[in-house]
Amino acid sequence: MQFLRPANSSDVIRALLLGFAAVAPLLAIALIHRNVWLALVPLFVSHLLMLWATLVPNCQWWGPVFTRFKTGEREVWLTLDDGPSPAHTLKILDLLKQFDAKATFFVIGANAEKYPHLVTEILTRGHTLANHTWSHPSGTFWCAGPARTHCQIDRCAKTLRTIPERPALYFRAPAGLKNMFVHPALARRGMALVGWTVRGLDTVKRDPVAVAERIEKAIAPGAIVLLHEGHHAESRPDFNPRCLELILQRLSARGYRFVLPLPEQLVCSRGL
Ligand SMILES: [Zn+2]
Repeated sequence: MQFLRPANSSDVIRALLLGFAAVAPLLAIALIHRNVWLALVPLFVSHLLMLWATLVPNCQWWGPVFTRFKTGEREVWLTLDDGPSPAHTLKILDLLKQFDAKATFFVIGANAEKYPHLVTEILTRGHTLANHTWSHPSGTFWCAGPARTHCQIDRCAKTLRTIPERPALYFRAPAGLKNMFVHPALARRGMALVGWTVRGLDTVKRDPVAVAERIEKAIAPGAIVLLHEGHHAESRPDFNPRCLELILQRLSARGYRFVLPLPEQLVCSRGL
């Protein structure tokens, strides 16, 4: 299993970011006797650049983020985040079967541990699993240190390996907000960071048609499509499955198939 290593521009940018972060305090000290405000400039710029690399989903500055795959066919990769969910996973699996579609479920480790039968069902029906952290700390993962980053990846990975014996190659950070420790951690574990080409914003939008339209507008062969499950489960239990159903209907009508790309097909570029 081999990932196509993208051009090493990410490595150069990462080194420049970290180098500037190391030099910025020295510049500030050198400038502070001239002007306090001027001394703050290198610190401000350094922090701003690091925040951009962290908080802009699919930004490649900390390292490669796969955002589409190479194909000559009308094929897309459906990715479903935040499950498994007792409210949605089985409905979603039935919809996928109805459209002869395959998908990758980026599951939260704690949910996988709680609902192992759903994880087994996902695998039994020919779909794949990927790592979406242990507890999905979307408000704090972006600023997590190395120990917490490793723990979030490893605890989820351990759960996925036990039920049943299959490694998850791919990782997606909560809300796509990856910190600077994610890439080294994934590289050591032979894993890769996956972003998306287009997301439906189905955790924000309230109308399934608007979600489907947003995805349909941006769709192209090789797109990675991001959707969610387990949201609004009590207030609007049909919302997540309905979004998926509309996307399956509309893209199928345009001749698209829903496939699981090989690791060597994945490529990096900015998504939406
Ligand atoms: Zn998520």
